[in-house]
Formats: sequence, C-alpha cells, structure tokens
Amino acid sequence: LIIPSWPQFCGKIKEIFLKCRNVNGGKVADYIPQLSRVNPDKWGIAICTVDGQRIAFGDSKEPFCFQSVSKAFNYAIAASELGADYVHRYVGQEPSGRLFNEICLDNQNKPHNPMVNSGAIVVTSLINNKVNLADRFDYMMTAYRRIAGGEHIGFNNAVFLSERATADRNYALAYYMKENKCFPPETKSLTDALDFYFQLCALETNCEHLAVMAATLANGGVCPITEERCIKSRPCRDVLSLMNSCGMYDYSGQFSFHVGLPAKSGVSGNMIVVIPNLVGIAIWSPPLDEMGNSCRGVAFCKELVNQFNFHNYDSL
Ligand code: GLU
Repeated sequence: LIIPSWPQFCGKIKEIFLKCRNVNGGKVADYIPQLSRVNPDKWGIAICTVDGQRIAFGDSKEPFCFQSVSKAFNYAIAASELGADYVHRYVGQEPSGRLFNEICLDNQNKPHNPMVNSGAIVVTSLINNKVNLADRFDYMMTAYRRIAGGEHIGFNNAVFLSERATADRNYALAYYMKENKCFPPETKSLTDALDFYFQLCALETNCEHLAVMAATLANGGVCPITEERCIKSRPCRDVLSLMNSCGMYDYSGQFSFHVGLPAKSGVSGNMIVVIPNLVGIAIWSPPLDEMGNSCRGVAFCKELVNQFNFHNYDSL
C-alpha cells in the first residue's frame, strides 16, 4: 500500500476537513447567474490514492460543474491526441500575470498558457475538430469518464445556457484571437468553438469522481481504478507543470511557494490537487477569495502541507 497507515492518515484528513469548515468569508461567483444560486455552505473533499484507496468527507457526492478545472483535463486530452508540439504551436507555457479572462496574447500572438480562458478556448478548438459538435462532445464525455474510471460525468445544461447568455468577454476574446489568427484552420465557426468550450465548463461531477480524475494525473495518466492508460505520460507531466505554474489564477506563484503542489481551481469553487505518485485530491466549497480560488480549498491545502511533508521541496 502506498499509504500504509491508512486509518491514521484518514483521521488527520478529517481533522483538517473539520478545521477548514470554520473558514468563512469569500463570495460565490455571480458573473454566471446560474452559479450564483449555489448554497455557499457546501463543503466536500475526496481523496484517491494511486493504488485506489479512497476517502471522502462532507458534501462529497453533491454535483458541481468543472468550470476551469476542465482546462487541465482538456489540455491533457488534446496533448494526448495531438502531441505537445502541435498543441504548443497554438498556446504558450508562461504564466500571463494577468486576469484569467484578460484580452491579451504573448509576444508571438499566442495565448499565454492553456489555463487562462484564451488558451483554453484555443486548446478546445484543436480537439477532434474534424467532426461535428455532437461527436466532439461525446468524445470528451468518453475521455472524461475514462479518466474518472468509468464513474459518472454529467452535464448541467442550465449552467451552459446561463454562461453562454452572459459570455460577452469570452466572445470578445475569441474575436480578438480570430483577428490574430490564433485558431487552427479547421475552426470554421467561432460560435461552435465557444459552445464547445462552455459545454466543457458545464460538465458536472462530484468530489468522489473528481478525486479519481486527479489520481489519474498523480499516477502518470493511468487510472488507478481501471488501470487503463487514459492520458499519455508526456502530456501528464506537462499538465502538472502548467498546473504548478498557472493553475490557481493570479495566486499561482504564491500557491506554488506555500503549498508546492500542482493544482487547478474553477469558479464553481472546486479544485484538484495532485501529489505525484501518491494521491489525487478533489475539493469543493463555493465561496471564492479575491483571486477566484475557493477560500476553504486554499486553507485546506495550506493545512495539509503543514501537517504532512507534501510540499514538492519538503523532501530535501
Ligand atoms: N466558464 C468560465 C469562464 O470562461 C470559466 C471560469 C473559471 O472557472 O475560471 O468564464
């Protein structure tokens, strides 16, 4: 067993979970009307080890949308399908130092990285892009479910419609990128490209399933439940590097400093944290801090690294 003292480990995780329940403050995202209606008290976590041991606390079975956490998986799926070199013809690897939805490109006129909206919209436009949208959506559902070890992945149509109806910024971003020739030649319709991006943001899961997905990343791209390789090893390494440098919005540098683990968060208040070769963690608490990360989520990670030597450089 990768974690031999499992009951002790679980006991400590439970303590941290209960401690972080006292972290209040933050604000549920309201720029997508449907997201603003979520109960702010929800608090769930789940962990899955690379050898398939699992533990969950709180609202770990309640559904939420991936939102920006989809960006990590979309990139890993795109790079597994197309190769890193091809994907990075269209997107860089550098933290932007700017807001996640800012209208800006790097000095080669590419989006800075796959974790900001511009980069994520371009990355999704690369995926299986010679077939129609219905088939592309199915393709991604299948890919997500494989990474989740066959567990349930849903779709929240209300969030999709609500986001699409209020997406002026993402439309502006897409037109700006079209002007700068950021999209691959297969992109005939910007509306389709954006719909696909919004649909992937509106995919739904819960902490228990998301922890398996995070554990697949911790396990080098092989799902610990099914032992199926779902992400190639190079893209798995690459997505973890990007999560480490760009996964937590404009807190990414500080998160990497204090916590020292690859992570990705989304505006629904969810996040994944990966401890390579050990565990995948999924966290959900809707209120966000001023950087856009889940308040309890960030507190949980800091406390986790306090209690265990999980920081990337703790082992020195
Ligand atoms: N769907 C969101 C957007 O594009 C994703 C935001 C996020 O989770 O950061 O605005």
